[in-house]
Amino acid sequence: MIITKAKPIEEILPFLEGKERIFLVGCNVCAAKMKTGGEPEVLALFDYLTGLDYNVIGWAVPTAACSVRSYESLVEKNEKLKEADCVLVMACGSGTSVIASILDLPVTGTNDTLSLGGQIGSSAINHLCSLCGDCNIGDYSGICPNACCPKSQINGPCGGSKNGMCEVSKTSECVWYIIEKRMKTVQTLPILNKIKPPKDHFV
Ligand code: SF4
Ligand code: SF4
Repeated sequence: MIITKAKPIEEILPFLEGKERIFLVGCNVCAAKMKTGGEPEVLALFDYLTGLDYNVIGWAVPTAACSVRSYESLVEKNEKLKEADCVLVMACGSGTSVIASILDLPVTGTNDTLSLGGQIGSSAINHLCSLCGDCNIGDYSGICPNACCPKSQINGPCGGSKNGMCEVSKTSECVWYIIEKRMKTVQTLPILNKIKPPKDHFV
């Protein structure tokens, strides 16, 4: 799941200067789960902007903003899109980019895209994978230090951890403390004896 957070409205309003017909596009997957672009959030932004006298002519929430069939498939959801002179996309950067690429209109996103994370129950988890292109998460029994450690230490802890806590992100446990605990539990600790080569981020 892509982790997003809504931008402050002050960051979005300058984009709307001089625009006469605004259309909103949400996303019914990650942004809906993050409550940054599902139908309730789209309707809330619709009401907010309308209350400020902006002319919001319509909205649509495709299944996934990052995976749409075509311009026509978006118009099928709401014909008003044809009349828009700008579009606000309430999704991650990837969703905004996909929508922009099928529209000959000014487009911007209303969210900041933070990381590739996940969700367990109702809790969102940030920074589970940094899309390094050279995955060896199995070497750590399923917890990625490349993504979860602020220094991306892939061959063991940096030495700054105190009482199991990270020296950089002081409110988080050191990921190497978590990895060691997990590998002891699942009896895979010997894998750590192998030194991992530098990652090839160009793969
Ligand atoms: S090694 Fe980590 S950052 Fe790289 S692809 Fe795998 S999970 Fe993602
Ligand atoms: S304390 Fe642990 S998680 Fe924090 S930077 Fe060092 S190795 Fe990474």
